[in-house]
Amino acid sequence: MKTEVEMNQASTGNESHLWNAMHKYNPDAKATVAVSGEGSWFIDEEGNDYLDGVSGLWCLNLGYGRQEVVDAAAEQMKKLSYFPLTMNHQPAIQLANKLSEMLGAEYQTFFSNSGSEANETAFKIARQYHMQTGNPGKYKFISRYRAYHGSTMGALSATAQANRRVKYDPAPPGFLHVAPPYSYRSLFSGSAEEKDLRAADEMEEMIRWEGEETVAAVIMEPFISGGGVIIPSMKYIQRVADICKKYHVLLIMDEVVAGFGRTGKMFGFKHAAGVQPDIVTMAKGLTSGYLPLGATSVKSEIYEAFKQEGKDKHLRHVSTYGGHPAACAVALKNIDIIEKENVVDRVNSLGNSKLIELHDLMNHKNVGEVRQIGFLLGLEMVEDKATKEPISEARMSEIVGACKQNGLVIGKNGDTVPGGNNVLIIAPPLTSTEEDLDFIIETVSSVIHSM
Ligand code: PMP
Repeated sequence: MKTEVEMNQASTGNESHLWNAMHKYNPDAKATVAVSGEGSWFIDEEGNDYLDGVSGLWCLNLGYGRQEVVDAAAEQMKKLSYFPLTMNHQPAIQLANKLSEMLGAEYQTFFSNSGSEANETAFKIARQYHMQTGNPGKYKFISRYRAYHGSTMGALSATAQANRRVKYDPAPPGFLHVAPPYSYRSLFSGSAEEKDLRAADEMEEMIRWEGEETVAAVIMEPFISGGGVIIPSMKYIQRVADICKKYHVLLIMDEVVAGFGRTGKMFGFKHAAGVQPDIVTMAKGLTSGYLPLGATSVKSEIYEAFKQEGKDKHLRHVSTYGGHPAACAVALKNIDIIEKENVVDRVNSLGNSKLIELHDLMNHKNVGEVRQIGFLLGLEMVEDKATKEPISEARMSEIVGACKQNGLVIGKNGDTVPGGNNVLIIAPPLTSTEEDLDFIIETVSSVIHSM
């Protein structure tokens, strides 16, 4: 029997030359080596089954092993194994058109390979757009503390989590951070919605203090996911969109996690009536993780600034593999399945009828808050409900380790702040069966009750 620590930690240790993501070095730990997967489950080399309660890295919207998706990739690879988007290919054209239709306005899409790159692309587009429309001084980006927007230097600069940054700073200049709409821990008073709206006021204040003529864009996830599943009132999202309009600041909506059904709408921003972002970035659920693909969709009005004939106004940005034909074919098939199988409705109804059962854990002394929208759920764990002192990282690892020992992989928020990594994350594949969801509910509940 492996120890909890061993179960919880992957390690390259002495065993291989592979450098794992996000794990502390532990020469004694044995890494999980997955060999196959089907639906919401994967099997490791030793034959153990695990339910993947966090969809890989929040990306397996359709779960593992969908033959139609595999076939779409293979068919495309046989026809055209690679082609650069300095020219065109049909899967990319069709996917860009499909995204424009789905987003609910006219958008032009630039393809890359990941969420980080999709956000980098958005930053470059935003700066160049302002430069080419008479506002060359608008270069700053605003994001919220606790946000995660990616691992590359620009996206990491928008990421406002101290522990993820500290070894890699100084970050490129021009990235500013404001308080998130985090009503559970807020310096503001009033109802949750009032606190959220005060956080939006603070963003407006920042734009005014910095000078609106210097601010290019706000980047936000509709619901902060990796930073601890923070779900604001929809009025906050609407208010941020209004502030952006008022100061001619572009709104970049990071739908890398929320996109393609995770929250019970096709895109997270669609929960906030009337909000239509200037730029939408996507990855993960765009292909359900079957192949890497990032997308930056930009409102056509913005794209106009790059269409000045005969002038050097085009986007000087290229990605060798971005919009790979096989990845685009996979995305088209993935979206087709999500639509035909009414996956989004399913997330809504099972989120509200099943996963919601995890809210009962609020009765437990160490559960400070349960936050959920669709198949995105966070349990904020505290030592004491009155003081809200976060439980220790060691206890968090014990819970995650105990779940894994019982066959369930769940997540915990990354390196938000020292001592503040206390949110358990549950984000299963959107195709999880009712039995899968029961298994998650029972396992998490029994592990927490046995604490
Ligand atoms: N944005 C958000 C909201 C994310 O959660 C992530 C990845 N966890 C990214 C961007 C970066 O995506 P990638 O890892 O594909 O670069």
